[in-house]
Amino acid sequence: MLADSIRGLLALWLVAVALPSAAAEAELPPDLWGDFSQGGMVMGSVAPDTEIRFNGRRLRVSPTGQFTFGYGRDVSSASELEWRHSSGATGRRQLRVDGHSFALQRISGVPQRTVTPAPETLERIHTETALVRRAREQDSAISDFFAGFTWPVIGPITGVYGSRREYNGVPSRPHYGVDIAAPTGTPVRAPAAGIVRLAHPDMYYSSGTLILDHGHGISSSFLHLSKILVREGQRLRRGEVLAEVGSGGRSTGAHLDWRVNWFAERLDAARLAGPMPY
Ligand SMILES: [Zn+2]
Repeated sequence: MLADSIRGLLALWLVAVALPSAAAEAELPPDLWGDFSQGGMVMGSVAPDTEIRFNGRRLRVSPTGQFTFGYGRDVSSASELEWRHSSGATGRRQLRVDGHSFALQRISGVPQRTVTPAPETLERIHTETALVRRAREQDSAISDFFAGFTWPVIGPITGVYGSRREYNGVPSRPHYGVDIAAPTGTPVRAPAAGIVRLAHPDMYYSSGTLILDHGHGISSSFLHLSKILVREGQRLRRGEVLAEVGSGGRSTGAHLDWRVNWFAERLDAARLAGPMPY
C-alpha cells in the first residue's frame, strides 16, 4: 500500500518533470517585433517545432524558431497570426495594421516609350515581369534579413515608397522603391547578405535589374543598373559590391531604385535601413 502510494507519487513527479518546458514554451504566444504598418516588416520568434500561419499562409520557421512577414502598401484590414506547436498547443492573435498617407509625385521627362509602350513590346514586358515574379517567390532557408539592412548607395533621396506617380502627365502605379540619386558608375553594395536570384542586363522599364534573396521570402530589387558585377546563384556578404548605378529604363537621370519585397508584397526599404547618412 505504502509502496503503491510512493510509486504513484513517483509517477506523478515523473509526469511533472517530463511534461516539461516544450509544452510550457508552446503555451507562450510568439514574440513579435518590427513595423506593424503598411510597408512594414515584422519578425518573430517562437518555440522550435511550431507551425506559424499569417493570414492563412504558412510561414517558414527557422530551426531556432525565427520567422518573418510583411505588410504591403495597401493592406488595411486587421491580420491574424495562428500557431500550432507539435505538442498540440495552439493559439491565435489579431494584429493591428497602421496606415500611412502617400503623396503624389509628378515626374516628367522620362522616355515616352516607357509611359505608353508600343504593342510590339508587350510580350517582352510580360516575359520580364514573369522573371521578376519567379525570383521573388523564393522561400529559401537562409535568414540574412535578421541581421538588418544598410543603405546600398549613399546619396540624396529623390523618390519614396508608396507615392502615387504620374509620368509625363499619365497616372501610373504607385512607386515601391526608394530612389537614391548617384552618378552613373557608383558602386551598389548588398544591403544585407543573400543569394543573387536574378541578374538581368536590360529590362524594358528598369534596365539592368538585380534581385537578391535574403531568405524567408524577403528580397531586395535594384533597378536602372548600368553594370551588373555578380551572377545568379552567387552568395554575397553584406557590403559586397554587386552592380553600378545607371539611368536606363523609366528614369530621368542616374539613380538607384532599391526595393524590398516579402514575396509579392512590397515593403519600405528606407524604413529598414534607417536615416540616410547623407
Ligand atoms: Zn524609382
